[in-house]
Amino acid sequence: MNYPSNKLLTSKIQEIRHEHLAQISAIHNPKIWSSVSENLEHVTVTIVIPSRGCSWALSESGGCSVCGYVNDSSRERDVPVDTIIRRFSDLLKGTNYSKKIEVQIFNSGSFFDEKDVSTELRSKIIGFITSIPEIFKLAVECRTEYILEEKNIIEETIKQLKGVILEIGIGLESSNDTILKDCWNKGTTLENYKKSVKILQTLGVKIKSYIFIKPPFLTERDAIRDTVLTISEVAQIGTDVISINPCNVQNGTLVNDLFRQNRYRPPWLWSVLHIIRAAAKIAPRTSIICDPTAGGKHRGAHNCGKCDKKVLPLLTKAINKEELPSDLSKICSCYNKWEIIITTPWEILRTRNISKLQRLSPLRE
Ligand code: SF4
Ligand SMILES: [Zn+2]
Repeated sequence: MNYPSNKLLTSKIQEIRHEHLAQISAIHNPKIWSSVSENLEHVTVTIVIPSRGCSWALSESGGCSVCGYVNDSSRERDVPVDTIIRRFSDLLKGTNYSKKIEVQIFNSGSFFDEKDVSTELRSKIIGFITSIPEIFKLAVECRTEYILEEKNIIEETIKQLKGVILEIGIGLESSNDTILKDCWNKGTTLENYKKSVKILQTLGVKIKSYIFIKPPFLTERDAIRDTVLTISEVAQIGTDVISINPCNVQNGTLVNDLFRQNRYRPPWLWSVLHIIRAAAKIAPRTSIICDPTAGGKHRGAHNCGKCDKKVLPLLTKAINKEELPSDLSKICSCYNKWEIIITTPWEILRTRNISKLQRLSPLRE
């Protein structure tokens, strides 16, 4: 598939990616780990497997400007299928759950990309999943091109799952094609997302949509606006779940380069809170999740450093639609600073002027 791209951005991302991957070793021994979260109805087991790595990031495109997941993959080496399966089954069998289990598998790429996850590995994982009666749902991730071009693999997977619910997470990130091209190098479009959703809905697959807060070259104000507009659009298109992800700066990425030169700041937690509150109004029937990676830390969404620990729990409260303090500025004086940042034009000028990648297309909506 051919996608619109910004050559200047692509070449910069490529250069950073190649340089970083040349410095770090590929993962020789499979790192596989799990985390367990529990709610009243079920347990979620999250497993990260070291597959070959995202084909988009390993391609000449260099991948997405903010994503360093490919750092943890086996890259060109053969993926040790049997070791992964053994560790995977040890993880699940070693845990005695009394509730139903949802398994989330992250492979830092696309579960239906043959180059990343082979048919053999996928079939063995699914065979194992269907052998455990407590597992009722499997959640995986996939880029739009594999949903559009490999529909038959998804259909085959549904058959193999024998009634276990399948959920596919799609990284739309933004509904603005200019932002996808000029800030993300995402290599896909809103139109492809819409077509993918339609296919998955027809197949009875649940859809989780990943939406990002603040890729490079957006001001705090533009970033909030972009995320809120995207949530509104995605809710109308018909996703089951929206996962809101504030930027966390990962090594070997363009955003990391800008961050180290003091030309990028991750979003404020106040912005994240504002967006979650807006989401509750514009997408009331869609399930919203937001668990900021590195939240409160320098490389993740953060405030002034003094109030972060107080503000992080407010995100969960906002998601659960619980009442928040009526005057947020009483929590910390940085709330007023944030308000100034998102309402005055000087930050817009600063962000645009300091960008060496100024030949980006102007933002269109
Ligand atoms: S965000 Fe997804 S598609 Fe983009 S480089 Fe990372 S894993 Fe690949
Ligand atoms: Zn503060």
